Amino acid sequence: MTAELIDGKAFAAGLVDRVAAAVPAFTAARARVPGLAVVLVGENPASAVYVRNKLARTAAAGMRSIEHRLTVDVTEAELLALVAALNADDAVDGILVQLPLPGHIDEAKVLVAVDPAKDVDGFHPVNAGRLATGLPGLVPCTPSGCLLLLRDRLGDLSGAEALVIGRSNIVGKPMAALLTTASATVTVAHSRTRDLPDHVRRADVVVAAVGVPELIRGAWLKPGAVVIDVGMNRVARPDGSTRLVGDVNFGEAVAVAGAITPVPGGVGPMTIACLLRNTLLAAHARAGLPLAAV
Ligand code: NAD
Repeated sequence: MTAELIDGKAFAAGLVDRVAAAVPAFTAARARVPGLAVVLVGENPASAVYVRNKLARTAAAGMRSIEHRLTVDVTEAELLALVAALNADDAVDGILVQLPLPGHIDEAKVLVAVDPAKDVDGFHPVNAGRLATGLPGLVPCTPSGCLLLLRDRLGDLSGAEALVIGRSNIVGKPMAALLTTASATVTVAHSRTRDLPDHVRRADVVVAAVGVPELIRGAWLKPGAVVIDVGMNRVARPDGSTRLVGDVNFGEAVAVAGAITPVPGGVGPMTIACLLRNTLLAAHARAGLPLAAV
């Protein structure tokens, strides 16, 4: 068997188009475009690239992007004051504080300071609680994107054996909550799981969010399984250059799985598309405007 490639890049482009198509109606109703504020602290090169991409995509979708760059020595109080000002600014619908933050700033304190109605990352405990209890709210972008790809591929997930590998607050846990709500039978594996291959073998759906290059081997997979590889790991080539690989050994898995996301070009583009979608959702919810499904 050769797995079908799940083209996250193409799916994300379609989603961004649907978001962009919904912007004019919002603008007509509110006399402004939805706004996303992105806060970047310090000079972390990877964070700077993520922020640049997020801002460019936001503008390309016809929304307003507002960038706040703070130096690495900004105090926690100064950052909290900026978040408070963005919370109070009616033209700002979404607030994203790029992680990681420098060590002298308490990340949890900053994340809870964001107005849950503007929490487009879905990291606020209020939104995590809403997700866990099945209430509407803003859902973290990466697992949202994974669920869209799974639904597109499989339709109804009811009764599927789903394995989520990783239990982080930003990917693994919300992914497990989304799959549970979708009526899959969900197992969460993590660093203390005893026999990972045995769990993988039983899964119809595998979502890998670990951060260990090519940990999941092709021979572990159930033939025909649908594999969503969230991992983004930079590894060295013999010549000293680097390449991006996932948490799944793609070369092996492609011969066993029914469908698989590539790295890059799978989950990554979906994360940004879902950020734009969350900004649109937040703008409509704050304005009390209805929004057809995007
Ligand atoms: P994290 O470090 O917060 O969590 C990793 C999880 O993996 C932990 O819960 C840990 O228990 C588990 N784990 C570690 N070693 C394991 C092992 N040997 N077996 C089973 N479980 C193990 O990471 P994260 O923030 O959830 O990110 C995971 C990966 O996804 C990283 O590669 C990250 O770069 C990537 N990521 C990609 C996107 C995207 O847009 N594509 C977004 C977020 C994260």
